[in-house]
Amino acid sequence: MTKSTRPPKKRMKDLTFLEKAYFVEIIKGLSLTFRTMFKPKYTMEYPEEKYIPSGSYRGRPVLVLEENGKGRCVACGLCSRVCPALAIEVQAAETDAEKERYPEKFEINMIRCIFCGFCEEVCPEEAIVMSKDYELAFTKREDALYGKDKLLVPISQLQDRIEFLRQYK
Ligand code: SF4
Ligand code: SF4
Repeated sequence: MTKSTRPPKKRMKDLTFLEKAYFVEIIKGLSLTFRTMFKPKYTMEYPEEKYIPSGSYRGRPVLVLEENGKGRCVACGLCSRVCPALAIEVQAAETDAEKERYPEKFEINMIRCIFCGFCEEVCPEEAIVMSKDYELAFTKREDALYGKDKLLVPISQLQDRIEFLRQYK
């Protein structure tokens, strides 16, 4: 057994008046509080103050909307297959444009999503990416079903993530 390095506890009768009054301890505590007041803060006044994450952050998955107003998704269904939480539903439809198919329906159940990023990793079109959005609160289950109206996000708002993926994916 190793010997304790702590000094032995003093008995009440051996304490000085100042020790009994906790005077020194109070001064020590106050000085620590005072010093800490001038150190940089690591907390924020959320929600008044918003945290803006970097490109490496994995917020809710979104679909990339190109500048010409078209989505990148070609409805291949890979993201839906790989999703471990079975959160993605894709229904494909044909198109006359250069891309053969597009998602007639694309839905993510945000109650199921575990933000793993597998959908993003597997997508061959860089059409689904993890955004910086972390503000998700629902009062009804139906509100957590995100369709294309909520999922399509302009590419200009996703630049940080796309840059990050190009560097590290
Ligand atoms: S982040 Fe993961 S859990 Fe969420 S939709 Fe994508 S693959 Fe599914
Ligand atoms: S988001 Fe990507 S992986 Fe998912 S269906 Fe569209 S193209 Fe395929």
